[in-house]
Amino acid sequence: MKIIQIPVNGFDNNFSYLIVGKNNEAVLIDPTGDLNKILEEINKNNLKITLVLLTHSHPDHSENLKYFSNTKSIIPKKGVLGEEKVINISGLVIKLIHLPGHTKDSVVYLIENNLFTGDTLFCRGVGTTAYGGNEIELKNSLNFLCLMNGDITLWPGHNYGGSSCTLKEALLNSKIKPSKKTLDLLKNKIEQYELNNSKKNKI
Ligand SMILES: [Zn+2]
Repeated sequence: MKIIQIPVNGFDNNFSYLIVGKNNEAVLIDPTGDLNKILEEINKNNLKITLVLLTHSHPDHSENLKYFSNTKSIIPKKGVLGEEKVINISGLVIKLIHLPGHTKDSVVYLIENNLFTGDTLFCRGVGTTAYGGNEIELKNSLNFLCLMNGDITLWPGHNYGGSSCTLKEALLNSKIKPSKKTLDLLKNKIEQYELNNSKKNKI
């Protein structure tokens, strides 16, 4: 697997990403900003795009989606905190995790040890809830991230204080300190969710 981070400028220091899997097939995350920069990378690396993923519905993350209208895409819908879906494509295993807050439809994508966070968490700071978001949901989602392995590499949707860092650094830089009470609540919720899921999978 190879990650190509493309600084596409766009609305405000946006990033698009190409995740290269087997046979030069690649997944494109948040096609936005300068389309030429994206196409240059695709051509230079001789890639075939098999799937387009969006981290959320804000237009500054999907400006170029129409250009890839012949490619399968995943446009997230409103989801429950921590709800997951696994996508297998081009030799990649992609875990979509719903983390509402910045918007109701915000998700992150975990691919191996890499987390593509859109506008939920940057290297320094978190996304605003002013445009269709919810403060409490965002807090819960950030708490959820606190429970993940801090050594995961974070790839944000904008260059706000860095182009990538570890999850631990991003949480620290953004002063996310979850309360123990919230963490316990979340842990229970996640365990319950996983329990239900494993029951479902057994049937
Ligand atoms: Zn956004």
